[in-house]
Amino acid sequence: MTKRHYDVVVIGLGAMGSASLWHLARSGVSVLGIDRFSPPHNQGSTHGETRITRRAIGEGEALVPLALRSHQLWRQIETETGADLLHETGSLIIGRPGDNVARPGRTGFVDRSIAAARHFNIEHQVLSAAEIIARFPNFTPQDEEIGYFEPGGGYLHVEACVEANLKLARRHGATIELGTKVLELGDDGGGVKIMTGNETIHAGQVVVSAGPWAPGLLGAPFDEPAQAHPAGDALVRNRAGSPPDMVAVPGVHVASRRGRNRLFLWLSQHQRGVDENRRRILWPPIRPGRHRTRRNR
Ligand SMILES: Cc1cc2nc3c(=O)[nH]c(=O)nc-3n(C[C@H](O)[C@H](O)[C@H](O)COP(=O)(O)OP(=O)(O)OC[C@H]3O[C@@H](n4cnc5c(N)ncnc54)[C@H](O)[C@@H]3O)c2cc1C
Repeated sequence: MTKRHYDVVVIGLGAMGSASLWHLARSGVSVLGIDRFSPPHNQGSTHGETRITRRAIGEGEALVPLALRSHQLWRQIETETGADLLHETGSLIIGRPGDNVARPGRTGFVDRSIAAARHFNIEHQVLSAAEIIARFPNFTPQDEEIGYFEPGGGYLHVEACVEANLKLARRHGATIELGTKVLELGDDGGGVKIMTGNETIHAGQVVVSAGPWAPGLLGAPFDEPAQAHPAGDALVRNRAGSPPDMVAVPGVHVASRRGRNRLFLWLSQHQRGVDENRRRILWPPIRPGRHRTRRNR
């Protein structure tokens, strides 16, 4: 069998992988997307009809620029595919100012949403309990609770988003292989070997966007959750606090925000009850031209 080589292989084509695949294909690198099922499907985290989206991210202000950009991109994808994806119905978060709940990511959630909106100049309104009841009579907040209302918040048709991403990826030349399970990754002397049941595929770099399956595929140290970093150059640190780009796994790195052409991959939390804001980024910078590309082949 001919040895197959790609600049990048994306493993897992849910919300994260399908978007990565599209952007990689558009950037001109040769890219293969692999999924064990046929996305959109009902097995992964991206299954279901809708997902909430908002701009002022109470889980961490480091995420706000990504959320802002994502809304622009959803509109772009709608224009390019004709798909109906984003509905900006407005979103309402109700909470007690200064609360201190058991889940760390949720403490002061409404305060942090308001602070993020102010910091990034995101249109919003802060409502008293009485104002919430007047505007949204199906809610009955307690007197001391307040509401953060973001008119641009709303929801996405999540499986249609995956379909649209994959459609655009194909349009930009990505190869997509469905029903193929990646069993193992290995060092390929500067690149990565991707072992499936049938063959070994070679790649300059690999994006692992296997959702809840990622820890099993990657093993240590990626089976420990990383935490979103609140601000600064580094967007994530691993649990031990090591700086990004320092995790020594062949071909797989934790990415930092610095530099051009860097791509972030956000893996969903694995199944051990990790907070939604504890996600991982596993991607070194893409450097078109470093490996064989569709353009220079
Ligand atoms: C009930 C629920 C509600 C949520 N609500 C929201 C919300 O309102 N707003 C929001 O922003 N987020 C929400 N989320 C989170 C969001 O849905 C996830 O973060 C997102 O779908 C994760 O996508 P993913 O691509 O990382 O993972 P997945 O969708 O799980 O994709 C992983 C893919 O990898 C493939 N795969 C796995 N292992 C292999 C392998 N070995 N070889 C090949 N392929 C493989 C799988 O088949 C799958 O297609 C919610 C999640 C859940 C579960």
